[in-house]
Amino acid sequence: MRRYLYGLFLLAYAGAAAALTQAEVMAGAERLYRERMRELQAQHQLDADPDFHQRVQRIAQPLIAQAAHDYPESAAWPWEVHTAPEGDDNAYAMAGGKLLVSRAYVHKLLLTDAELAMLLAHEIAHAVLRHNLLEYEEAMRLEPAWRQRPFAELEDAVDNDSALMRKLAPLGMRQEAEADREGLKLAWRVGWPAPLLARYFQKLARASHAPNFEQFAHPAPSQRWKAAQELAAALEAAGR
Ligand SMILES: [Zn+2]
Repeated sequence: MRRYLYGLFLLAYAGAAAALTQAEVMAGAERLYRERMRELQAQHQLDADPDFHQRVQRIAQPLIAQAAHDYPESAAWPWEVHTAPEGDDNAYAMAGGKLLVSRAYVHKLLLTDAELAMLLAHEIAHAVLRHNLLEYEEAMRLEPAWRQRPFAELEDAVDNDSALMRKLAPLGMRQEAEADREGLKLAWRVGWPAPLLARYFQKLARASHAPNFEQFAHPAPSQRWKAAQELAAALEAAGR
């Protein structure tokens, strides 16, 4: 009887761990994104610069169409691309393809259209590669107690619990490098010249106060620039 109960416990435990799905992660992201959009709306910031908003849409939509082709799961997602003139958010994509891009950030770095395409493609790559889901799974592997707790708490912890964030940093670093690589390839497949895409990373490195050092969960900007140049050269050599 004891053994049987233990077996049941294990089953329940495994079930809880397996319960987190892409759909659940997307629902959580949708809720957080909606909250942020409501805040921006209340501050008259949401998509408030029509020229900038149209520029971002014009560059983002072909990337999203390419992603739908290359990552078929994402074709069914309710993608959204919004912009804000100011604010702390540089640019991000939440699970399920919810993007926000800051005009202040794009203007500060003086991004060309190709460089903006690289920024967007990096964010789109995070979404289609399911980086959020993989991060939550890694958190539950590192700290199994999370399997028993509500998902909303874990969602908050990966952004605010510094001890957990430190443990997740190696994965975050790999995900950033992967989003750089797969994002550059995605934008290149859309038709952007690879060397022009790579220059986004040159601008990041130039704007950085410490280009040779890793930043929290991001590889060193100089390293990202070097990797992008190498990938661009390889894509150029391979041809379309
Ligand atoms: Zn990233």
